[in-house]
Amino acid sequence: MSDIEEHRKKIEEITLEMIKLLKTRTDIAKQIGDAKASLGMTVTDEEREDALRTQVTKLCKEIDLDQSTALKFLNLLLNESVKVQSESKQTHLSVFLKAKALEEEGKKIIHFEVGEPDFKPPQEVKTALEEVYDKGYGKYGHAKGITELRKVLSEVENVTFEDIMICPGARFAVYLAITTLLNPGDEIIVIEPSWPAYKDCALNAGIKVRTIKTTLETRWEPSIDQIKNAINENTKMIVLNYPNNPTGKILSEKILDGIIKIAKEHELYVLSDEIYEEYDMRPNKDDDNRESYEKLWNETEKIIITKSFSKSHAMTGYRIGYVIADESIIEKMSKLQALSLTNVSEPVQYVALQALKADVSGNTEIIKSRLDTLVKIAKNIGLEFIEPDGAMYLFAKTKYKDFDATKFSEKLLEHGVAIAPGEGFGDYKEFFRITAIDETKLKEGMIILDTVLKESYE
Ligand code: PMP
Repeated sequence: MSDIEEHRKKIEEITLEMIKLLKTRTDIAKQIGDAKASLGMTVTDEEREDALRTQVTKLCKEIDLDQSTALKFLNLLLNESVKVQSESKQTHLSVFLKAKALEEEGKKIIHFEVGEPDFKPPQEVKTALEEVYDKGYGKYGHAKGITELRKVLSEVENVTFEDIMICPGARFAVYLAITTLLNPGDEIIVIEPSWPAYKDCALNAGIKVRTIKTTLETRWEPSIDQIKNAINENTKMIVLNYPNNPTGKILSEKILDGIIKIAKEHELYVLSDEIYEEYDMRPNKDDDNRESYEKLWNETEKIIITKSFSKSHAMTGYRIGYVIADESIIEKMSKLQALSLTNVSEPVQYVALQALKADVSGNTEIIKSRLDTLVKIAKNIGLEFIEPDGAMYLFAKTKYKDFDATKFSEKLLEHGVAIAPGEGFGDYKEFFRITAIDETKLKEGMIILDTVLKESYE
């Protein structure tokens, strides 16, 4: 056998070994995932995972192996089992799809599960839609967005033109940030309860999610120690979303400052999803935490802020939002955007440009009034929750022991009301989310909710 042939054979053998190893790895991961799902266990068990990490680190020292690489490999393995288990979770989206199917059969459904304003976009949007054809917007364009819109947004946000990129919604901006800035095996910190997409984007890209669980009892506030304990050499990003979906929480300036300090110390990216910025309902905004964000913006180049027209301008279906970040980050994100989209729809960008001329402060008033009504009813029927500081939701549980919100959501749907089960937002099986919709429907739906609750548990 010639040298080359021998070499080739060796490579084939190694490749086959690697494939076998990969198969074992996937099988084990699937078994773990299936077992946890059948036992009703949570998707991630941070304590067990920490113990595993310690073991791996110890072993690496013993056999003189690069610790970071080994931990990245462990993360990939852990992710496989999380993926299997996440597939069976009930989220606001899965309930929405079931509700839609019932509507198609002719049933009337009150939608408490959908996260979108049920009023129309401003009049400026209608006018812009009428004129956009004649204006000639409708060609291929720059991946970062049309110049006019980027310019106006840079003025609104008080950043440079290069720091703005238009995206088809904040969701895609989140996806781009996680996918382009992190690598498989890296870690990202997500504070739960949280909008599921941060976790799902990370999982999809082979990035390990470290969850920080916050509780109703601690007013949905993460402690600085919890965050410190979740950081290791592979941690690359922390996600913030305040006002929060689903709790409506806005962090105090003190906690936010603490998080920023840690992020700087560990050179973490901070992905701040500010899609509910306009829906800040705090009566006293003296402790406005904008200052902290501005501080962060000025002090680190590693912040990525995502914003959208979806909630503020009731333009969910238009699919338009934007990202604010340092030019170097925008550059990376725009490459994937160009690769996957070419550019965001030009007509929609023009419409968004015109939408910025509208006064949408009335929307905040509408949502505030609905949230107030929802809070009042929820208190009257004995739900347990922290009053939201903002956003458009109430995240609540009941006084009943062993209450299972997923089962309750299925039962409630049979009675024509769709709610978002808490398990879609993390380890919160006893909670559910209600969107502050039109007040007539809100009252009607809450009466049904209360009746079904009492019938089922009393
Ligand atoms: N971030 C959060 C916290 C959300 O709740 C949502 C939508 N529900 C999004 C981002 C996505 O927004 P968009 O429609 O702009 O993609």
